[in-house]
Amino acid sequence: MTKKDNLIQIENNIANACEKAGRNNDVHLIAVTKTIDADGIRELYDLGLRNFGENRADVFLEKYEALKGLSDIVWHFIGSLQTRKVRDIVDKVDAIHSVDRPSLAKEIEKRATKLTPCFLQINISGEESKHGFTKESAIRFLKEADFKNIEMIGLMTMAPLTENVGELHQVFHELKQLQLDIQKLGLNRVPCKELSMGMTNDYMIAIEEGATHIRVGRALVNE
Ligand SMILES: *Cc1c(COP(=O)(O)O)cnc(C)c1O
Repeated sequence: MTKKDNLIQIENNIANACEKAGRNNDVHLIAVTKTIDADGIRELYDLGLRNFGENRADVFLEKYEALKGLSDIVWHFIGSLQTRKVRDIVDKVDAIHSVDRPSLAKEIEKRATKLTPCFLQINISGEESKHGFTKESAIRFLKEADFKNIEMIGLMTMAPLTENVGELHQVFHELKQLQLDIQKLGLNRVPCKELSMGMTNDYMIAIEEGATHIRVGRALVNE
């Protein structure tokens, strides 16, 4: 299958999942391009994609430079981000999906020169190996925060590696519930309207549970 075939299949799956869930097809497909080079990204761009996700600061910067001519690309930073790399990327990315600790948010606040859309990364399953805020610490953090350069547009999670469909539904459902709880707080600069969840193995389940941004790598780029 070519990238074009992959994309057609994914777009069909997105449409079907939206229909099954009775929702409008308003899902943003983020092409996760960490395993392909700038030419591969250009190929996806030519197929009409505009949202791209990278997970390493240095690699992102190289691709950003190489693709500067494509001015309507939307860059999503999705990987764990070292504090000292924030200054290099913060004004070049359009959204950061991986705000997984207070110190990272603090550094983004300090280094950004404009309002930066961010997602708070949540560790729903509570696995120690996973990055992110617990549900309780997320609420505590957001209540105390006083964002100037951050707009917390939503929540992000990584589901556990499992084929247990019920468990995946549960994880995504919990993120949706947390989103509703946070919205009720009515906090300044925390609209929390978006949900970044779902990857190659589970994006259709995530859509059924309310994902607004899915991050798809392998299913799209593996030919
Ligand atoms: C690699 C990656 C993805 C995409 O994973 P696939 O299984 O290839 O679709 C999504 N989100 C994050 C944070 C990633 O690192």
